[in-house]
Amino acid sequence: MHFAGKQLLTSELSFPYDKQHVQIVDSIIKTKRGYMCVRCNNDDQQLFASFPCARCGRICTYCRKCITMGRCSECNPLVIWTGPTPSISFSSPLQWNGQLSPAQQLASDEVCHAIDRNESLLVWAVCGAGKTEVLFAGIDMALSQGKRVCLAAPRTDVVLELAPRLANVFPSVDIAALYGGSQDRGKLASLTVSTTHQLLRYYRAFDVMIVDEVDAFPYSVDSMLSYAVERARKPNSSLIYLTATPNEQWQREVKSGQRKAVTIPARYHRHPLPVPTFEWCGNWQKKWRHKRLPSCVVRWVNEHLERNKQAFLFVPHIDFLQQVVPYLQQFHPRIEGVHAEDPKRKEKVLAFRRGQIPLLVTTTILERGVTVPNIDVAVLGAEQPIFTESALVQIAGRVGRSAQYPTGDVRFFHFGKTKAMVSAKRHIIRMNDEARKRGLIDK
Ligand SMILES: [Zn+2]
Ligand SMILES: [Zn+2]
Repeated sequence: MHFAGKQLLTSELSFPYDKQHVQIVDSIIKTKRGYMCVRCNNDDQQLFASFPCARCGRICTYCRKCITMGRCSECNPLVIWTGPTPSISFSSPLQWNGQLSPAQQLASDEVCHAIDRNESLLVWAVCGAGKTEVLFAGIDMALSQGKRVCLAAPRTDVVLELAPRLANVFPSVDIAALYGGSQDRGKLASLTVSTTHQLLRYYRAFDVMIVDEVDAFPYSVDSMLSYAVERARKPNSSLIYLTATPNEQWQREVKSGQRKAVTIPARYHRHPLPVPTFEWCGNWQKKWRHKRLPSCVVRWVNEHLERNKQAFLFVPHIDFLQQVVPYLQQFHPRIEGVHAEDPKRKEKVLAFRRGQIPLLVTTTILERGVTVPNIDVAVLGAEQPIFTESALVQIAGRVGRSAQYPTGDVRFFHFGKTKAMVSAKRHIIRMNDEARKRGLIDK
């Protein structure tokens, strides 16, 4: 293992390294408010603990927030690489013959531009617009210039999906895939795909930092991860954010021109995004106490079973999911439910893809990433706080993604319209309007 571009705990340095190029800093410091962790920026005092430490033989304080990355304690300073990072350049390593849509091409050009000038850029691409391809030319250019590229994603699933795709189009490039338990842990490759957590081991390592699904949990709620992104990239580097659903503040900044952004408002197949319809379903929770569902929801389920059209039904909590699935199985024995802690999650999604499950009831875990052609979606209890604007846009974004089945029904069953529901609908309509204006959709 080479130390360049890293920040490691003293306890992790079991190999010889060039002491000339390192700086040793306290990993836990005292501030007016109490303790602060230099590795992860935690200053929530409840997330510090003291224990009789075997390393220093004293009562020692450590950070609980980043403990999964090794114990960051008072007696275990951080060793930070301050020397040069070796650079390897490739000559046009991209092997890809695909074609970009005009909107993708424009975004791709902007990405190249930002990478070339070490600027930041937000790529705001609707669900199913093909945002990964938009990065290819920029990554190709960066690698040709001897730059180190990191693509950070909030979730391990995304890392596992992206790493092989990139390895496929950049066959000659050394690629590291970093996530909890990965073989590549601690590697410094030319092209790195990493969970945002794993970036805590890197310091000023990357010339190009791309953050995927920047709005997704846990990045959006956890300042630790944005801190990790900032520390892992070089002071003079480019920063590219990708998302389908920027938060309100970012949307405002884009509108006012404070944040540089490029939008891809339409999908490759030139059909508009399906716009959600709202359907009031009364107090469904109260009804459910008598083991009844609103009649409009029952009708929706039956219609789909009769027409043999597959659908996702999103519900707000696991508790409700576990009760409603057996109930719905009376209508059809192959109806299934899936949630985050479900050990059979992968099998169920696969069975759904194969057409063996007519209706999959799910919590928000399937709001992203899962693409199945020709489905409809409904949300039961769309007024619940878990269904934020971004979650609802992502849910609607499951529908009509394939060129063969570019349309479908998106239904929000609710007990009172919320701001999030209205914003989500407006968001989708606005994207369709922009796409029409730019001639990116046919009707
Ligand atoms: Zn910490
Ligand atoms: Zn200690």
